[in-house]
Amino acid sequence: MNIIQCQFCKKPFASISGRICPECLQQIDRDFITVRDYIYENKHANIDVISEETEVKKAVIIHLLKEGRLIIDGPDGGGGVLACEMCKKPINTGRLCKECMGSVASSMDKNVTIHKKPEPAKEEPNLKGSAKIGKK
Ligand SMILES: [Zn+2]
Ligand SMILES: [Zn+2]
Repeated sequence: MNIIQCQFCKKPFASISGRICPECLQQIDRDFITVRDYIYENKHANIDVISEETEVKKAVIIHLLKEGRLIIDGPDGGGGVLACEMCKKPINTGRLCKECMGSVASSMDKNVTIHKKPEPAKEEPNLKGSAKIGKK
């Protein structure tokens, strides 16, 4: 467990995973519902208006967008609030545009192993010569 500074309220807290303290996470969940309901009613509102009308901080709305929990409806990423982290193209949700996501996914296959589950324990080779039951 690490003591780190919360991304939103800047308070230090003991983190198991993530950079947001439990209080802020709860607040974000409440904010999420507020913003989501607002967007249902006001499909083309931009993020400034949403923030003003719902009193939810812009940083929280952007966080929700990056997590993919909210999606901006509109061709330009709601006024360029979100941009692909690789090619800077406006996007509506998440961190990367579809093209970059595709290229990241294919390069991940080659060299990134951090996110992969540990390999299952290898079977001991001392069964050599005996037939295994069942197919893998
Ligand atoms: Zn916090
Ligand atoms: Zn991109």
